[in-house]
Amino acid sequence: MKCKKCGMENRIGEFFCSKCGANLEDEMIKEAARTLIEKLGVLLPIIATVITVAICSLLLIPSKISLAQKRKEAKAAREVASEQAQKESIARRAEEEKKDAAEEEAEKKALRSEC
Ligand SMILES: [Zn+2]
Repeated sequence: MKCKKCGMENRIGEFFCSKCGANLEDEMIKEAARTLIEKLGVLLPIIATVITVAICSLLLIPSKISLAQKRKEAKAAREVASEQAQKESIARRAEEEKKDAAEEEAEKKALRSEC
């Protein structure tokens, strides 16, 4: 810590100059503030980046989750729809077979009555 009055290099933590007795406290506080500002100057961009990344991930993760959820729901709905369509087509086929059988029966009856 350099004395402003006489230029004497004093040990860090000394409150008064060992040569002229000038008060070094103010200078020490200024020095500490300068060091702090320098450190902050290095740290602030890092902190800002970390905070930005954290906020972005916080904002993006829920939307990703909801997107996956929506996709899953859409898939489930599609599966249900295709299942229903399958059931309907099976039912339709069964009905058609019944109708065919009835028609055949009617034809047979008609043939028998003709004879
Ligand atoms: Zn001094």
